[in-house]
Amino acid sequence: MILASLEKWLQRDVKPHVLRLEHADEYPKDMADQMAEMGLFGATIPAEYGGLGLNATTYAKVVEKIAGTWMSLSGIINSHLIMAACVMRQGTEAQKEYWLPKFASGELRGGLALTEPDAGTDLQAIHTKAERTGDDYIVNGSKTWITNGIQGHCFALLVKTDTQTEPRHKGMSMFIAEKGEGLTVSRKLEKLGYKGIDSAELAFKDYRIPADRLIGGVEGKGMQAALGGLELGRINIAARGCGLAQAALDDSVTYAQTRKTFGKTIGQHQAIQLKLGEMATRLQAAKLLTYDAARAYDAGERCDMEAGMAKYFASEAAVENSLEAMRIHGGYGYSKEYHVERYFRDAPLMCIGEGTNEIQRMIIAKQLMARNPV
Ligand SMILES: Cc1cc2nc3c(=O)[nH]c(=O)nc-3n(C[C@H](O)[C@H](O)[C@H](O)COP(=O)(O)OP(=O)(O)OC[C@H]3O[C@@H](n4cnc5c(N)ncnc54)[C@H](O)[C@@H]3O)c2cc1C
Repeated sequence: MILASLEKWLQRDVKPHVLRLEHADEYPKDMADQMAEMGLFGATIPAEYGGLGLNATTYAKVVEKIAGTWMSLSGIINSHLIMAACVMRQGTEAQKEYWLPKFASGELRGGLALTEPDAGTDLQAIHTKAERTGDDYIVNGSKTWITNGIQGHCFALLVKTDTQTEPRHKGMSMFIAEKGEGLTVSRKLEKLGYKGIDSAELAFKDYRIPADRLIGGVEGKGMQAALGGLELGRINIAARGCGLAQAALDDSVTYAQTRKTFGKTIGQHQAIQLKLGEMATRLQAAKLLTYDAARAYDAGERCDMEAGMAKYFASEAAVENSLEAMRIHGGYGYSKEYHVERYFRDAPLMCIGEGTNEIQRMIIAKQLMARNPV
């Protein structure tokens, strides 16, 4: 039912407006509010905290559908739900009761603030520091590339609470930081694609945060909170990849049956058939990997390798399918009047976010060896 009503909404209220919003780089405020009404800000939050309580498998299908229509729209809820996952997995009961209903309703919206100008993949190299003073912490530093940074109200914020401890991750903690004095947006970042949704730099200058916002209530668990959220994050990126790869294929199948050259539709030329055959097979493989990772996540199994494989393969499938769709569309594939050029600009982001594809392959290899010791 959720998928059917979502599809109806996407076709009726989203698709007709995507080209305009995308090229104006305009935040889709009405659509975000409609997603809140549909309960999507609480998609993966348990029903006892006011969410829809969707499992990862259904959530992946929701993300796939949204991303297949406009990937930017899925980012609005995905980053928000990763923030919520940090509280769900690592938060105290009091924190869950306080934050999760507000996140689920969309009253408070936000995202994940891990990356810094000098630290992305190597998160243990972050510099943002939180120092305890009485019942509060004082935070100084900066974060970059923060999705929903301008429109969001609060962020799961990764900081150092101890800069001396070894290994470094033991000195890292995660807070829920609400916008207020000392936490400002320093700039909006301009991007190749992923338009409409805001990516921003955040500055923390003597930002005071109450100690009860430390997720889990104890210092040193920040990396665990961040990495726990990333498993679902990787499944979500894989699902976005599937959505884009599907959209590129669907547009190509339609175009191949309408565009004519040399007296035939281009779909009757073997060169185009080979492309469609490869695109469809790649898509199907990406979907199976994604649904398998989601199934493992739902079963409570360790799934860093499965989520990594799905994320890696599906994001590369999105890149390859969008490029092939552009070739199939000829000159029109390069036109801003078609969706295909957007798929081509959006797809590479999935190779970078939630752990680059280089790192995914290293995670897969390490897991292979850990699961098969000699
Ligand atoms: C549009 C967009 C939205 C984003 N949204 C968010 C967000 O909401 N919140 C957030 O916290 N971050 C966000 N990010 C940041 C993103 O997570 C990082 O860009 C990503 O983790 C990579 O980090 P980096 O850019 O610092 O690259 P680097 O870590 O500097 O990596 C550069 C290159 O080196 C490779 N590399 C690095 N280390 C190794 C290694 N050990 N072995 C092999 N290769 C390696 C990488 O794979 C990459 O190819 C976003 C980024 C973009 C572009």
